[in-house]
Amino acid sequence: MLKALLLYLQKLRLKYSTSLNVKEGKLPNQGYLTDIQKVKGINKTELDALQPVLNKFSFRAHEHYLSLINWQNPDDPIKKIIIPNLQELEKWGRLDASNEKDYSIMPGFQHKYTSTAVMLISNVCGGFCRFCFRKRLFLHPEMNEYIQDLEPVFSYIEAHPEINNVLLTGGDGLILSTSKLKTIISRLRQINHVKIIRIGTKLLAFNPFRILNDENLIKLLSAYSLPEKRIYIMTHFNHPAEISQPTLKAVQLLLKAGVILANQTPMLKGINDSPYILANLFKKLSYIGIPPYYVFICRPTIGNFSFSVPIEKALEIFQKAQMMCSGLAKRARLTMSHASGKIEPVALTDKHIIFRYHRAADDSTSGDIMLFKRNPNAYWFDDYQEIVDTYAYQKPYRCFGPE
Ligand code: SF4
Repeated sequence: MLKALLLYLQKLRLKYSTSLNVKEGKLPNQGYLTDIQKVKGINKTELDALQPVLNKFSFRAHEHYLSLINWQNPDDPIKKIIIPNLQELEKWGRLDASNEKDYSIMPGFQHKYTSTAVMLISNVCGGFCRFCFRKRLFLHPEMNEYIQDLEPVFSYIEAHPEINNVLLTGGDGLILSTSKLKTIISRLRQINHVKIIRIGTKLLAFNPFRILNDENLIKLLSAYSLPEKRIYIMTHFNHPAEISQPTLKAVQLLLKAGVILANQTPMLKGINDSPYILANLFKKLSYIGIPPYYVFICRPTIGNFSFSVPIEKALEIFQKAQMMCSGLAKRARLTMSHASGKIEPVALTDKHIIFRYHRAADDSTSGDIMLFKRNPNAYWFDDYQEIVDTYAYQKPYRCFGPE
């Protein structure tokens, strides 16, 4: 009797573990909403109050993501990420806080770090994060700040053998149809020095059905994520509550397809600026096979002040969160995508803060250390005025270059 039961349980387990396929993801009648009046959890009074924000900044969300909101909780993290709030009208910041235009070779194509090229391939996302640092793409779609003509971009990459990895982003890198993605990815694979193709996406949180319901996407990723040249999916989870059951299935499909996953998130006030929540996010990501990669200091972007955490506070939260994690869960780095490069706040003393250029636009300064007098009110690198000491490495690290 016991043997029969064990056999039955084993069959059940086998059936379950092999049952994952793209068709299982189908969930009809869910789609994208751009009309906030269709969101069931917001009443008319709230909508009226939000009108000035809606006049200025667009709204977009997927019904799957909206279904994760607990409307009874005024501090619900998903709600804060996707539902407009009045504080977005607070005057602060710029539209292009990292001066991306200075590194743009042509509209939608950037080459800032020697080995990395960035292709903005769309100006749409699976939802509009209220804290988006590239909201200029949605605010001014008429500017067409994404790539319209692919061939000059490929020619540039071909002529620059130092580019060993290309990031496809936007907008969201996976929002494009699979056939369009295939055109881009297959062409990049013809360029031998491009080893890594990264795709930046928040669709695993916003709409995992984009992955679950498209067998051809999985085939495409599987065909072009090669043993010596991987495709990386750069996920964007801000809070553990975004990791739903469909998300887990989509992650499993991607891992099976042979892509590498890594997560990036800004540190966001009221969403993940707690060591416990951040540690939980790191842990949960590490359990499901997504190494935490970057935690960003919020760029000073228009509309984003209410999400921003001062740098020194962010560093303390980040370090406390890391202390709660195993080595695998604490692989993230805290960084600022400053116009001059990726700057890592490394450590605090009573009087000073230490920064390091994780990667500088001028590569001869990559790795350099800078010691500043503390400023607890600093939200960005430019807010530090009193430099105390520097240490320049004579031979900057180089993990790239013609091979
Ligand atoms: S997913 Fe990224 S690009 Fe898209 S709205 Fe969110 S922050 Fe902006």
